[in-house]
Amino acid sequence: MPFWALLKRAASVENLNSLPFDIIIVGAGAAGVMAAGRAAELGASVLLLEKMEKPLRKLRISGKGRGNITNIKPMEEFLQKIHPDGNFLRPAFSQFFNTHLVKFMNRIGVRTVEERGGRVFPASQKAWDVAEAMQKWARRTGVEILCHARVTGVTRGENGLFLVVFDHNGARRTAQGAKLLLATGGLAYPATGSTGDGYGFAKELGHSLTPARPSLVPIEISGFSRFGLNDLQVRNVKVSVAANDKIVDEEFGELTLTKFGVSGPIILRMSRSIVDALQAQQKVKLLLDWKPALSKQQLQNRLKRELEGDSIPDVGSLLRKLMPAPLIPFFAEQAKLQTRAKVCENSEEKIVATLKSCILWVCGHRPFSEAIITAGGVSLNEVDENTMQSKLAPGLYFAGELLDVDADTGGYNLQAAFSTGWLAGGAGG
Ligand SMILES: Cc1cc2nc3c(=O)[nH]c(=O)nc-3n(C[C@H](O)[C@H](O)[C@H](O)COP(=O)(O)OP(=O)(O)OC[C@H]3O[C@@H](n4cnc5c(N)ncnc54)[C@H](O)[C@@H]3O)c2cc1C
Repeated sequence: MPFWALLKRAASVENLNSLPFDIIIVGAGAAGVMAAGRAAELGASVLLLEKMEKPLRKLRISGKGRGNITNIKPMEEFLQKIHPDGNFLRPAFSQFFNTHLVKFMNRIGVRTVEERGGRVFPASQKAWDVAEAMQKWARRTGVEILCHARVTGVTRGENGLFLVVFDHNGARRTAQGAKLLLATGGLAYPATGSTGDGYGFAKELGHSLTPARPSLVPIEISGFSRFGLNDLQVRNVKVSVAANDKIVDEEFGELTLTKFGVSGPIILRMSRSIVDALQAQQKVKLLLDWKPALSKQQLQNRLKRELEGDSIPDVGSLLRKLMPAPLIPFFAEQAKLQTRAKVCENSEEKIVATLKSCILWVCGHRPFSEAIITAGGVSLNEVDENTMQSKLAPGLYFAGELLDVDADTGGYNLQAAFSTGWLAGGAGG
């Protein structure tokens, strides 16, 4: 530990009330740990409070445990993946972007690999290794990390210092900081510790919030449960989202049919527009083209070829040649066909029409507990994008998912958390 850090030890977890910390950080997720280590490296005394038993719970399960930590796409393309306004992150990215993150990871002992679509993972394929390396780095720089420490209140005293009240292993404790950084995450996957506490703190300190909504979340379809579909993957489909009959989004790729509706990469990507339309009380439907590479005429020709032979098959046998068996009851109902009926000209027409346009009525979305990210949060126009400092309360900073920033899948969300953490830690440290 550097000499200056030893001197700063006077402000430590043993004597929380004697000396204020330069900065107190609430939440040891990707943003909080990055900010803490950065601030401590710059010489600040840092107290990092985390309510769970260990830091970085969410990072440890990210990317199905493999940790898709960033994406190597160039800045302009990267910013397109961020909502509602990628430009807010431009200053953060100009200081600490994907290549910086990869170098940083290498510096703390995590080798990385690039995969399909520019996605970057730890070479060990274990997000856990990233979390452990980051935690060790933060401790090495002198950060005081206190786990089982649930912050219950934040105020600013008359002396201008922030007073943070927290519950530590059942005991009420307090600490003072010249600066305060809120990095408590959003509401997605609350089992990892992110239960939206930071929204209340931000509000108490004068900030306004854009309503939080689950995003990158599976979608529920009316009457779907009766088909007993269980994570059936279908590739190369086109899905359009219509809200009050206007197409608002469209994607091509892989879809998963689940017990309650639809999921998979293209649905998760479009879930933001679907959830927003539902919240605006619009009628939302999905239009599925099962065979986007084929025109109606080409499909008709294909059916004719399938029907060549001596006997006329029933609808079910014909459908078996066109799609996976578990999909047939659902498809037949959509096409208004009996699977046992013999194929006729009318049923051929219905099959082609339904293959090109199958309507699924959206009745809802899955809850926050199944969402990968929270859309909404601390309003961006009240935060200085060059420092992550509040424009309303000097000395107050924000980083990570707590902000009104969310992104597509592909490593963009973690990079946003790391970059805003780095920037806030640098400015606040
Ligand atoms: C299942 C899943 C997989 C994901 N996979 C990827 C991926 O591969 N790539 C990617 O880019 N993104 C991924 N994401 C998104 C990404 O993990 C998050 O965007 C990112 O972790 C947000 O970091 P954060 O530090 O802002 O918040 P969090 O990681 O949520 O950290 C906030 C911390 O604050 C703590 N906290 C909250 N309230 C208090 C309180 N009152 N007192 C003390 N501590 C508190 C919480 O316990 C938590 O540790 C995934 C998300 C999920 C749910």
